[in-house]
Amino acid sequence: MIDGHDHIPTTPDPIPTPAKTIVTAPAPILVWFRRDLRLADNPALAWAAAQGPPLIAAYVLDDETLGPWRLGAASRWWLKGSLERLAESLGAHGVSLILRRGNASRVIPDLVKASGARAVVWNRCYEPAVMERDTVIKAAFRDGGIDVHSFNASLLHEPWTVTTKAGGSYKVYGRFRDACLAKGEPPPPAGKPATLTPWRGDLAGDALVDWCLRTTSPDWAEGLRETWSPGEDGAHERFDDFIDVATGYAADRDFPGIAATSGLSPHLHFGEIGPRQIWHAALARLPDDSARRVFFNELLWREFAAHVLHDQPDLPEVPMNGRFADFPWREDGAGLAAWQRGQTGYPLVDAGMRELWHTGIMHNRVRMVVASFLVKHLMQPWQTGEAWFWDTLVDADLASNAFNWQWVAGCGADAAPYFRIFNPVAQGQRFDANGTYVRRWVPELAALPDKLLHTPWLAPAIDLAAAGVVLGKTYPHPIVDHKMARERALAAFKALPRP
Ligand code: FAD
Repeated sequence: MIDGHDHIPTTPDPIPTPAKTIVTAPAPILVWFRRDLRLADNPALAWAAAQGPPLIAAYVLDDETLGPWRLGAASRWWLKGSLERLAESLGAHGVSLILRRGNASRVIPDLVKASGARAVVWNRCYEPAVMERDTVIKAAFRDGGIDVHSFNASLLHEPWTVTTKAGGSYKVYGRFRDACLAKGEPPPPAGKPATLTPWRGDLAGDALVDWCLRTTSPDWAEGLRETWSPGEDGAHERFDDFIDVATGYAADRDFPGIAATSGLSPHLHFGEIGPRQIWHAALARLPDDSARRVFFNELLWREFAAHVLHDQPDLPEVPMNGRFADFPWREDGAGLAAWQRGQTGYPLVDAGMRELWHTGIMHNRVRMVVASFLVKHLMQPWQTGEAWFWDTLVDADLASNAFNWQWVAGCGADAAPYFRIFNPVAQGQRFDANGTYVRRWVPELAALPDKLLHTPWLAPAIDLAAAGVVLGKTYPHPIVDHKMARERALAAFKALPRP
């Protein structure tokens, strides 16, 4: 059955009855777009298109339901571009995209009432608050005799379809991955519907410009615009570019100075491309076995994060390992600000934080290093870093962000142990040995020789002068000593009560 978790009926689905509103024209079907901003492999849209009646397409900006996890600034920038592209694609079929702002549990029923729609369809989201809301909406429509269906467009395997033999959820990634792989290939993706029949009625909608999703002065989005093309076409162009370099994926994906990863995460998050499309396109077009295997493993980390969030709805706020509940985090506003601005004095950390601010993205290896630095060197709560990422990442995703912050902090599912503290210097020397990445994002150090680039504070005065670096002026001294910080974090960890 296509319907899934967000209705979980304990009684059989009621037999659909005609819509309550009497209209003369054929009653339309409302397609509610959410995080599936594409036409291809969009099962809700395909289902609606196949039924025959005209379609209404709607998107609701529902900050109320998401509460503290409403879209951050970079995500809002992305959303605007993505909705513009989706409106164009639908417009080519004569279908308008109706935009509304407000709690979807009021807005969607209003749209159904005003249009006399006989059915509503959407693709599922898995954030706990959204699932709760959708379950209520679905039940109310069913009670009111409106046909309602939901589908899976954004995961290879929905959380409740991958369970242990005992029926529970997986806690260890390797076992989860093996269980997913044992299910065989995911179903092949569908194409775009050939035709869409537009509804000819009139429904008021908001103007996208009034949602204020654009950045205001200062225009911090310049780097976002340079880096990204939100939308379904942009997603496929990204994938095509990735295929050109993908044979190097397994070997090069950890090196931030090499463009070896796909850059698909924001496109995946907004559903401009779906994981089934990516999986099958990689099967067809990525001949290198090891690159494909490693790439699929990464897609399955995304699935695992969704699985863990489904199992642990308070994942974004509460450490999975209760031992960390009373961790003695430090008050350090200055340290936090230096981290956010890329002014810690550790070149790899600063490069990552500046890349994030400029482009809305950060390489995965560097995300691990900067997150470890914040949580372990500065002893700031992981939730603080999670919130900063939430606001600044274009791929900010509740499950992946929370899961990975807990993973780095050492309190999450299958996490890196707390005592494994990334050394930002050693990481830089290993993964950015020739300094391509640091020189790009920390240009004030660019003229230092490779061997000094990751430790400017150890550079002889003559080398600093030759490179035009004045520590404390053109580039900061390290805000914390690595050895001291490491010992301090380990001591705090050891003092935690044993489980
Ligand atoms: P590729 O290497 O091309 O991987 C392909 C896809 O696999 C990615 O697009 C992504 O969807 C998925 N993927 C890869 N690694 C991971 C991972 N560790 N966890 C979950 N999915 C993964 N990813 C997000 O999408 N949103 C987030 O908010 C997010 N926050 C993170 C926070 C921290 C502290 C860390 C350490 C990682 C976070 N990640 C997050 C995971 C990862 O860094 C990004 O998915 C990856 O860098 C995206 O780049 P890419 O598309 O080029 O990845």
